[in-house]
Amino acid sequence: MEARPWLLVVAISLSACAKQDPQKQIVDDAAAALGGRERILAAKTLILEGEGRNGNLGQDMTPEATGQGFTVSGYKRMVDVAAGRARIEQTRTPDFPYFQGQAPQKQVFGVDGDVAYNVAASGNATRGSNAVAKDRRTEIYHHPLTALRAALDSASTVTNPRTEGNHTFVEIATANRVAFTLVVDNATKLPARVVSKTDNANLGDVAIETSFTDYQDVSGLKLPTRLTTKIDGYTNADLHLTRQTVDGDAGDLAAPAAAASAAPIAGPPPPKVTAEEVAKGVWWLTGQSHHSVLVEFGDHLTLIEVPLNEARSLAVITKARELVPGKPLTQVVNTHAHFDHSSGIRAAVAEGLTVITHKGNAAFYQAAVERPHTIAPDALAKNPKPLKIETVDEEMTLKDNTRTMNLYHMAGNPHADTLLMAYLPKERILVEADAFSPAGPAAPAAAAGEPYAPNLLDNVKKRGLKVERIVPIHGAIAPFGSLVKAATAAP
Ligand SMILES: [Zn+2]
Ligand SMILES: [Zn+2]
Repeated sequence: MEARPWLLVVAISLSACAKQDPQKQIVDDAAAALGGRERILAAKTLILEGEGRNGNLGQDMTPEATGQGFTVSGYKRMVDVAAGRARIEQTRTPDFPYFQGQAPQKQVFGVDGDVAYNVAASGNATRGSNAVAKDRRTEIYHHPLTALRAALDSASTVTNPRTEGNHTFVEIATANRVAFTLVVDNATKLPARVVSKTDNANLGDVAIETSFTDYQDVSGLKLPTRLTTKIDGYTNADLHLTRQTVDGDAGDLAAPAAAASAAPIAGPPPPKVTAEEVAKGVWWLTGQSHHSVLVEFGDHLTLIEVPLNEARSLAVITKARELVPGKPLTQVVNTHAHFDHSSGIRAAVAEGLTVITHKGNAAFYQAAVERPHTIAPDALAKNPKPLKIETVDEEMTLKDNTRTMNLYHMAGNPHADTLLMAYLPKERILVEADAFSPAGPAAPAAAAGEPYAPNLLDNVKKRGLKVERIVPIHGAIAPFGSLVKAATAAP
């Protein structure tokens, strides 16, 4: 044997080859720390129960604020680990003045393969969009047990092992087209967090990150009792689990028949824009939940609000150009930064419009216009342009020889700190969003009253405005008296 040393060299090389890939070693070590490969692969269901808090991303007082939230009680997340089904039941109670009042709201929603669904209080189930289904399918892996089960699956790929500080990272791609980053604590070898990416219409490419802490022993496994989920750095859910059950009875997690049999929803409903001339050169653009108002000046057009989503905003812009083909549409007034009211800002910038908004939104819109949208490229991603912006502090007057429009900050409104309202003094028309949504034929009265109406009335009085009609962004056109009535009856 000693005469053939090369055999030894071959043997050493072979043993080096047989040694595990680093990424496999990372997954195996984490699996061992969690309770072992066999125990993880044998798990069939996972039931998590607890309480905590949900955030109010995109709907808080300022774009940067995180003070508002919902207290979550009765949280129950049931996962069929192998079948890719999950359902969450929870009760949310807003800790801020809310449209629908302060009453607790029960929520039931889930995913079954490609079908996302929501179940209303009435028991009626509706199908969610394909994008929501993908997010919820991905969310199933935002837990150490499901993440490691996926990592151990021979149909998954595990790539790009790397270490940063006290953590090691690997990329997992599952057979059912879900991709996420598994982050393992180097000291304990337990999963510290899972990070996945998704598209947010307002923010573009965002990371959704769930951190796992306070591990405890559960049925031969170590499972975290605290799950904290951040979207793009905003804490969106912080849950403390009081009971965890592996292989308990999760009930029937199949999608309800009404959702399962509904057609897949590839995107938002096609926009429908209806124009009504409410005064000479002033059009109310309706047709869906969020309206806009077009105002004609001597040599240009000004739009108020590009809401809801890119498709509606582009349709509203097209309608505005059709209504007055001889004058350029040059600017859009944005009432506030809430995501459903600002989701057309990028589309407006792509169309060359100048954005007029409260100064408190300027930094957020500057960032929003520059953010990457590679996961679901929008109009601005395909046609990048810089933001043109004019900001309002307390008030601004848009005026030429044909028209005057005043913009006022709705100071002190508990709905948002950066609300603007628009007033046409000659026509005595007030345009406002969310502070008062008058009931009408297609718009039922707010079930819990109008909590923001008293402040709107104060702002109208403080400015000495002689409002005759309210032409709102939500609801129906109403006489000024209906605001007075709503403010008096406010909760
Ligand atoms: Zn709002
Ligand atoms: Zn609104």
